[in-house]
Amino acid sequence: MLRIEDVWKSYGDEEVLRGIDLTVDRGDVEVLVGPSGSGKSTLLRCLNRLTEVDQGQIYLEDLEVTAADTNPDTVRQQIGMVFQDINLFTHLTARKNITLGLRKVRGMSAEEARHRADAELERVGLADQAESYPAQLSGGQKQRVGIARALAMDPEVMLFDEPTSALDPELSNEVLEVMAELVADGMTMVVVTHEMRFARGGASGITFLADGEIVERGPPDELFENPTHERTERFFESIR
Ligand code: ATP
Ligand code: MG
Repeated sequence: MLRIEDVWKSYGDEEVLRGIDLTVDRGDVEVLVGPSGSGKSTLLRCLNRLTEVDQGQIYLEDLEVTAADTNPDTVRQQIGMVFQDINLFTHLTARKNITLGLRKVRGMSAEEARHRADAELERVGLADQAESYPAQLSGGQKQRVGIARALAMDPEVMLFDEPTSALDPELSNEVLEVMAELVADGMTMVVVTHEMRFARGGASGITFLADGEIVERGPPDELFENPTHERTERFFESIR
C-alpha cells in the first residue's frame, strides 16, 4: 500500500537518507527505530511531503506521493501524522481543533464536522473534553486530541513520530492504548518509537535505521531475539 523506492535526501553535505527501500502493506504496522540523527523523522516527513526527497519515489497505492504535480494537501488528507510536539491551536477547544480542518479541507458543514469531531474524541476516550482548551488538558490528552484530529480526516495511513517521548510513563500509556486500538482496527501505521512494548505487541515489522540506511528489517521477535547485525543488537541493548 505504501512503497518507498530508493529514497535519498541530503541537507547540505549531509546525506540523511541514503537509498531507503521499504514497503508497508495495508493493515501493517511498521515501527522505525534507530539512533538519534539516523533519519527517522526525515523519512516520515518525506512520506507526507513535509520534506521533499532529492531522489527516489514514494507511492501510496497508485498515487505517486513524490511527484511534482501531486498536491501535498492531497497526500496529507490520506496520510495523517502525529508528532512528538503536541501542535494544537491553543486558542481553540479540542473540538474546534478537529473541526477546523474538516471544514476547510474537507468542506464539511459545521454540523457534520462537529459530529465527526465528537465521534473521534470519543474514540480516543475524550468525549467529555470537547470544550476544553489545550491548556486545560494533560500532555497525554493533548496528544490524543492530535490523534483524533488526524483520524477525523479518515486517512489511509497514520504516521507517528515519537508520540509518547515527551510524556510521563502514565500519560504515555493512555496514548499507547489508543494506538493499540488503531492497530486492532487494522489501521496501516508507520511509527517511530522507542516503546518496545508497543513494538513487540503491535508491530508487523521493525526497521532499524542507522546513518540514513536500513541496516536490518524483520518481524519483532526476530529482530529483538536474533538480530543479524551487531549494530542492531547493540542498539536494542542500549534502549532496554
Ligand atoms: P531523533 O531520534 O533525534 O529524532 P531522527 O532519526 O529522527 O533523530 P532526523 O530528525 O531525521 O533524525 O535527522 C537526521 C539528520 O538530518 C540529523 O543530522 C539532522 O540534524 C538533519 N536534519 C534534519 N532536518 C533538517 C533540516 N531541516 N535542515 C538541516 N538538517 C536537518
Ligand atoms: Mg526524530
